[in-house]
Amino acid sequence: MYRKIDHIAIAVRSIESALKAYAGAMGFQGCHVEEIAEQKTRVALLPVGESRIELLEATGEDSPVAGFISKRGEGLHHVCFEVDDLGEELRKLRNAGMRLIEPAPQAGAEGSLIAFVHPSGTCGVLVELCQPKSGRSHEFHESEA
Ligand code: ZN
Repeated sequence: MYRKIDHIAIAVRSIESALKAYAGAMGFQGCHVEEIAEQKTRVALLPVGESRIELLEATGEDSPVAGFISKRGEGLHHVCFEVDDLGEELRKLRNAGMRLIEPAPQAGAEGSLIAFVHPSGTCGVLVELCQPKSGRSHEFHESEA
């Protein structure tokens, strides 16, 4: 089940300079910065109501964010929907013939599980699905252990 838009991600050359606009001029509070080694990306999450803005910065030349910026420049990178069971949603998408970028859930920020849907099937927008750490499936696995 899809719950809400968790975040909208913007590819930036530098989180530090992007924060001058988003945290400085626009005044978004409560910035959380984290490095996601698996994605070769540094992220800054800024809460806006029940959603967040995610600033994405590459940590290496071979980062997907570096590739994106060299092709298109800074800008809207993806939209992320929160789901309560990522494995289930990926199964549904696969059965519907959608192209997934990773076949299985990956480690995301703040202990979440994430997966990306290829933009060819979603009208040109890269879609991320995210199951938060406190999600139902995660609790289920913890109580099993
Ligand atoms: Zn994201």
